[in-house]
Amino acid sequence: MRTADRIAALPPYLFAEIDRKKEAKQAQGIDVISLGIGDPDTPTPDHIVDAMATAIRNPENHRYPSYVGAKRYRAAACEWMDRRFGVSGLDPDSECLALIGSKEGIAHLFTAFVDPGDYTLVPGAGYPVYHTGGIMVGGLTHWMPMTEANGFLADFESTPASVLAKAKMMFLSYPNNPTSAIANDEYFDRAIAFANKHDLLIVHDNAYSEIGFDGYVAPSFLERPGARDVTIELFSCSKAYNMTGWRAAFAVGNAAAIKALGTVKSNIDSGIFTAVQDAAIEAFLGPQDSIRELNALYQRRRDLVMGALGKIGLSAATPKSTIYVWANVPDGFTSADFATKLLEEANVIVAPGNAYGPSGEGFIRISLTTPDVRLEEAIARIEAL
Ligand SMILES: *Cc1c(COP(=O)(O)O)cnc(C)c1O
Repeated sequence: MRTADRIAALPPYLFAEIDRKKEAKQAQGIDVISLGIGDPDTPTPDHIVDAMATAIRNPENHRYPSYVGAKRYRAAACEWMDRRFGVSGLDPDSECLALIGSKEGIAHLFTAFVDPGDYTLVPGAGYPVYHTGGIMVGGLTHWMPMTEANGFLADFESTPASVLAKAKMMFLSYPNNPTSAIANDEYFDRAIAFANKHDLLIVHDNAYSEIGFDGYVAPSFLERPGARDVTIELFSCSKAYNMTGWRAAFAVGNAAAIKALGTVKSNIDSGIFTAVQDAAIEAFLGPQDSIRELNALYQRRRDLVMGALGKIGLSAATPKSTIYVWANVPDGFTSADFATKLLEEANVIVAPGNAYGPSGEGFIRISLTTPDVRLEEAIARIEAL
């Protein structure tokens, strides 16, 4: 049997080697604490689960879903964009598309926009599918540098003309995974001007829009003037409403891009289970108290980790959003060296920064989605090193 070359071209899965070591330790009865993955540990709010319980008994919901999402789902998504960000007047039919999680949308955007040999502008440290999605279609990645000195704002302006001549799409994502950086209006406006100049689609991945600490409230990219001419934004229920397992997200913005992505999807998947869409509608339009509670929880854990970092020889900027602390590794270590040391000597898993792209070298990502007692135990173990 011969598989396609693109499979061999994919980088090794981020956690494959770490998983192997973790399993070997667990087989010896060792208690390993994972601060690696970003997957909310607290349950989906009750009112959303209750909406699902009702929706699942509706026989209408048992049939094939709409490819583009139920009209009521898209209408609720657009209503949410208005209530939450003041982004008004989005047309649910032409400017909104349901996604089976934003990961699905990201991966399929490459089929819609990238021909073999085309470049995609990808944050130097970012969600891995921005890079692997290109490999799947024979596309090339241009890594936009991100440095601590420039606040981890991906530097698109340094992209060589030869790359720009073959580029159609640029990913941005603020609040940012893995660096936890946030962006300001001036950066977004520069990105819009750049996309206009070079005829690029901006895909803004807003997976962490609802997470904010110390009063920070993240914006939508679509609030910026002219954004809809060049941008689609992805929003997901996953991190905002503790719904990673449900697979519900949407894309909003530029109608031509929405149409192209919808064309790809209608040839591949058959939409989100309609009962899940009904539960997501409850998330969008029902009470929003769960967000405040979730942010209080993550902020407390963030403070716990930030308070301990100095003692364990690490430094990090205090995050205003996301569920991660992005810490410098001590001098003399690479990301992978340090992550391996923590696993081997403290039985604690963190994500090595280089796994997110070249700008991630020299950092580790500590996830806050672990119960407080386990987080405290992990910190104590690292301190004891
Ligand atoms: C978690 C995450 C996603 C995936 O979201 P789903 O909607 O669950 O597919 C996308 N982008 C970023 C940056 C993420 O951190």
